[in-house]
Amino acid sequence: MSSEHKRKKLFVLNCGSSSIKYKLFDLADGYTPLSSGIVEEIGDAMQSYEEGFSIIMQKLRDEGVLEDFGELWGAAHRVVHGGSKYEKAVLIDDAVLSAIRACIPLAPLHNPANLEGIMTLRKLAPQLPQVAVFDTAFHQSMPPEAYRYALPEVLEEEGVRRYGFHGISHHYLTGRAAALMGKAPDDLNLITIHLGNGASVTAVEKGRSIDTSMGMTPLEGLVMGTRCGDLDPGIVLWLCEEKGMDARDVDTLLNRRSGLKGLCGTNDMRRIVERMEEGDAEAAFAFRYFCRRVRKYIGAYMVLLGSVDAVIFSGGIGAHSREVREEVCRGLECFGMEIDTEKNRRNFTDAMLISGEKSRIVIAAIETDEEWQMAYESRRVLPECHRM
Ligand code: ADP
Repeated sequence: MSSEHKRKKLFVLNCGSSSIKYKLFDLADGYTPLSSGIVEEIGDAMQSYEEGFSIIMQKLRDEGVLEDFGELWGAAHRVVHGGSKYEKAVLIDDAVLSAIRACIPLAPLHNPANLEGIMTLRKLAPQLPQVAVFDTAFHQSMPPEAYRYALPEVLEEEGVRRYGFHGISHHYLTGRAAALMGKAPDDLNLITIHLGNGASVTAVEKGRSIDTSMGMTPLEGLVMGTRCGDLDPGIVLWLCEEKGMDARDVDTLLNRRSGLKGLCGTNDMRRIVERMEEGDAEAAFAFRYFCRRVRKYIGAYMVLLGSVDAVIFSGGIGAHSREVREEVCRGLECFGMEIDTEKNRRNFTDAMLISGEKSRIVIAAIETDEEWQMAYESRRVLPECHRM
């Protein structure tokens, strides 16, 4: 057998409504990245999924890393919503496909695109084992006190409950933080904070999620790029009754025109920090407001966890904005969280310790790696027999 045939190539995919993001790993010996990229303008008049995959295949062939999808050991798909059914990644069969389909009402923008990616690859490589890695799975360990809403039980039976999202990222951060601290995840209580365009925070007890800020949909919790986060539900009633808004208007307002954008006109944290430094009061207010909400959740989760070993910042903002990390941690010394401003200002590496010597709680900034986490979880469920 040539060395080429000893490779275990895993295709990690994030099929969205307008793009396919991919990364090809060789898992024969560790997690060796072979190629990665993105194909955009999928789904509209420009390109079909099948065309998208054929562009990717051509690129992989040109790079000399893959000849045919049939040569893969497996493909892993990021699936946004797995409902209450999946607490781990699973090998995709017809039952899993039906379950992903059944979750479409809970994730109408994402699950159909995820399904389309799976079905297209099935058509192109019928024998290829495919894995679904759910963004909700990590939070399935939440107790009912965390996942239920204070609503009549019949609604929960119909699926109205908190699921949480960014699970792949929070799971990765848990494992990476444990590795950095030289401990097993089971021995650690963490607060993992993912601050990107979407933002969420998770209370991790002994390696398992026990509460998270996003709810039935990704709208709940922190202030985000364009989403409002926590809100009095009475406001929705007021908008409908007094402003004559319908569901679509409310959706647009709360998901696309609120958050940082609603507060100061932009959802780009880099720009907000620049404007703040130029003396712009509106940007400064949005910045403080955003950080204050993160602080509220840290406080709440400290109380829920009882003791916290580490607080982890991640996502585009959490990993890269020293200003946000400094503001979030300001004045928390009395709770055992002491940021070292000099370390916090150093140039970012993919994982960086930013707490001071005397801090009881470790504080770190870590670049998340959802593709690695998906490869890690898929490795455990892919059938050995298909190994190339
Ligand atoms: P998504 O949730 O879409 O994956 P990201 O995790 O990439 O988004 O986060 C996007 C956010 O991160 C934007 O608000 C962007 O301004 C912010 N960001 C990226 N780099 C920096 C930086 N160096 N300083 C401050 N904010 C940053």
